[in-house]
Amino acid sequence: MKVPFLSLKDMTDKYRDEIHSAALRVIDSGWYLQGEENARFEKDYAGYIGTEHCVGCANGLDALVWIFRAYIELGVMKPGDEVIVPANTYIATILAITENGLVPVLVEPKIDTFQIDDDLIEERITPRTRAVCIVHLYGRCAYTRKIGELCKKYGLKLIEDNAQAHGCVFEGARTGSLGDAAGHSFYPGKNLGALGDAGAVTTNDGELAEAVRSLANYGSQKKYVFRYRGRNSRMDEIQAAILGVKLRHLDEDVALRKAVARCYVEGIKNPKIVLPKVPDWKQHVFHIFPILCEQRDELQKYLEEKRIGTNIHYPVPPHKQECYREWNGMSLPVTEKIHRCELSLPMSPCLTDEQVAWVIDCVNGF
Ligand SMILES: *Cc1c(COP(=O)(O)O)cnc(C)c1O
Repeated sequence: MKVPFLSLKDMTDKYRDEIHSAALRVIDSGWYLQGEENARFEKDYAGYIGTEHCVGCANGLDALVWIFRAYIELGVMKPGDEVIVPANTYIATILAITENGLVPVLVEPKIDTFQIDDDLIEERITPRTRAVCIVHLYGRCAYTRKIGELCKKYGLKLIEDNAQAHGCVFEGARTGSLGDAAGHSFYPGKNLGALGDAGAVTTNDGELAEAVRSLANYGSQKKYVFRYRGRNSRMDEIQAAILGVKLRHLDEDVALRKAVARCYVEGIKNPKIVLPKVPDWKQHVFHIFPILCEQRDELQKYLEEKRIGTNIHYPVPPHKQECYREWNGMSLPVTEKIHRCELSLPMSPCLTDEQVAWVIDCVNGF
């Protein structure tokens, strides 16, 4: 039996007819940018997340870039200001901060949740801190009441990177609605994925939404009038139409991911492997199913021999990357341990019971 890490083809085939008719509708309409499909998806996605505004853009990195840039344009932040961020995030979160001349302050995660350690945030707040950017990494909610209270106490913006957590819920509210603004990615492999690049910003702040909308459209609100030095960062109509289809099935797909995760949690019993702790199943949508193993590379090779696809999220942390040479000497032991020991098991709404059982058997046999 073969178990791919993730088959995008299976995910598309699942809703093939609906996706085809959505794409054809756009092709036949003769209107390909900034039209009804974007307007409808923005309205539907804002409704789903539970915010007043949603602004579509070209990808998830841009969504985050535009949030910080809009705060700079609105005078809330200025280059040199600090943003607290988890050290073990995907590089995009950090790039969005540094692209705007802001300074990322890297905070260690908790080893059992992989999320920013909220006990370490307050000591890192300085007079230059303007925001805390939490990342719902692997699909698990990173928000805690403590983080919300700290942001209030120090007057900091709370920004969410919701690229991996579409559909995740914290006490009745969706991630992406918990802070001041959130960036979403619809990269094909994400829980809500387009068939190409796309992203969005959600917020209840009308001024921020308006600035993001302008920035992503050359800095323009009115045709040929440029308020900001923006870029072309728009979402294609065809992607908006396809995302509309997939949004209608998102909760159903998330439930299937959770069912796979439950089987892994109940079935995997191997003292060499540490499973993710899940105290509240509403707060995890399993974009990734991460396990920790000291013999990670051997485990990955062994699973490959059994034709089971795995991935590492991520092999090298941001502070050890060449693009951030100046941080290469930093010591962040929890982050480094995750990058040394993490392995992601196959996870998708399309896995069969037999495939899941085979993964469990093989992992237990290691
Ligand atoms: C995917 C991802 C992004 C960036 O999204 P793109 O659409 O690929 O630009 C940002 N942050 C995190 C945590 C991600 O996983």
